[in-house]
Amino acid sequence: METNFDIIVIGSGPGGYVAAIRSAQLGYKTAIVEKYSVLGGTCTNVGCIPTKALLDSTEHFHTAATKFKTHGIGTGELTLDFQQMINRKKEVVGQNTDGLNYLMAKNKIQVIQGTACFKNNKEIRVTKDDNSYVDYTAAHFVVATGSKPSTIPGVVIDKTRIITSTEALSLSEKPKTMVIIGGGVIGVEMASIFARIGVKVTILEYAPSLIPTMDKDLGKELKKILQRSDVEIFLSQKVQSAVNNGDSVSVKYSNEKEEVLEITADYCLVAVGRKPYTEGLGLENTKIELDKQGRIITDERLRTAEDNIYAIGDVIAGAMLAHKAEDEGVFVAETINGQKPHINYRLIPSVVYTWPEVASVGYTEDELKAKNMAYQSGKFPFSASARARAAMEKEGFAKVLSDPKYGEILGMHIIGPRAADLIAQGVIGMEYEVTNEDMYRISYAHPTYSEALKEAYLISSGQGSINI
Ligand code: FAD
Ligand code: NAD
Repeated sequence: METNFDIIVIGSGPGGYVAAIRSAQLGYKTAIVEKYSVLGGTCTNVGCIPTKALLDSTEHFHTAATKFKTHGIGTGELTLDFQQMINRKKEVVGQNTDGLNYLMAKNKIQVIQGTACFKNNKEIRVTKDDNSYVDYTAAHFVVATGSKPSTIPGVVIDKTRIITSTEALSLSEKPKTMVIIGGGVIGVEMASIFARIGVKVTILEYAPSLIPTMDKDLGKELKKILQRSDVEIFLSQKVQSAVNNGDSVSVKYSNEKEEVLEITADYCLVAVGRKPYTEGLGLENTKIELDKQGRIITDERLRTAEDNIYAIGDVIAGAMLAHKAEDEGVFVAETINGQKPHINYRLIPSVVYTWPEVASVGYTEDELKAKNMAYQSGKFPFSASARARAAMEKEGFAKVLSDPKYGEILGMHIIGPRAADLIAQGVIGMEYEVTNEDMYRISYAHPTYSEALKEAYLISSGQGSINI
């Protein structure tokens, strides 16, 4: 068995497996260590992929229940097999983890199962559940150990009634009621999954807006849309405690007027952010340092205080997103290879997979105001889009922020059908510093959702919309 490598990657999430594949493609003898028996990390097993599988299943159910009749489709009595939804989700995850096994074999990457712990900057010990271990050496290491859910004082996650997204994705039966602490990305995606199948969902959010880090117009519109699906939303709330009563949970919180209120539900889902994961990694045996939030400190080349050890993904600073981790995986492999890769962190898009979807890239209006940067805004509602009307998808808008002098695109914020895919156009436009005029003078197929972007560019340029 080989125990000496050019590059050992620790963690097999989207950061780790991409780093390993790119390293192998560049000719390095590569190994990847994963403590779980399956590859893929948070994203594949308990994050991006299973949530999207359940979001799709529940959206089909909701569409059948709320829109089919208007389309002239009768289905008889609509039924829901919750367990089948969970089984299909498991199958989708399985297809993705199988795909990763195939990719590791194809690229001749050695997969090592067990928990990696640094002995020093050149050697790790990998220990299995039965306490057997093997030591491995490498010229370079890439730490991609990801993140775990965090909680707030007074709320202890017990994984039975007080749960995280991980448990919520594998419940054995459909709950009747659920309280979600946190109206960020996980909070609103989970609220969508459960509300669509008839669970009474209440969101308690600390900030005065849902998805508060995104452009404020998006949170406002999303709140209205979720409320129309019967999600109860309370903003500016301070949660004090959650108590497991055996077959329910009681959550105490205070509202804006400092009144203490209590709500009881079948489950309390805690979605207040995630924290970097470095437990048991033996960083104390290296020079690697953590910042105040527990993230591994790296330089701009993603190198830690040890010259030969890099860190990527959720375990370092920046957005906790799969595609950010993937980009960094490629970045470190190419950096080790002596290349000069580049990541434009300002142009990493954010997507929330509610329906309609929310997607964003570049500056928000608040950020432009804070920087005293002049901008003009062009906002086009999907209710004025012929494509959206044909599809009964009239909620939301596309908003473009641009520089008033040259028309350079500064930000794009969409809430509407297929926003997750539309946002790619904004990323390309901003990366290559195109202007409003460049974007509205190109041809857009009719009728498409992308025409909403053309209209937003036209409005943002000052020329004015054709369709409103
Ligand atoms: P991870 O995916 O967390 O992988 C780290 C891996 O390292 C894990 O498998 C862990 O077991 C392993 N590991 C840790 N320590 C050790 C050790 N000492 N030895 C060996 N192995 C170790 N992002 C998106 O971009 N789009 C989405 O739609 C999206 N949806 C999400 C939904 C949910 C519910 C959640 C929780 C997250 C979602 N994310 C999404 C975020 C995304 O999952 C993360 O940003 C991404 O997984 C980070 O990748 P990573 O490689 O840094 O770490
Ligand atoms: P988040 O940071 O998106 O949201 C956490 C929310 O909890 C915030 O709105 C915050 O104001 C709120 N909050 C914090 N303390 C609170 C308190 N005491 N009471 C009430 N609310 C409180 O984090 P998340 O939703 O847990 O997601 C974690 C990470 O996973 C995010 O960084 C996100 O990028 C990633 N993720 C991404 C996707 C996606 O890309 N579609 C999906 C899910 C998760």
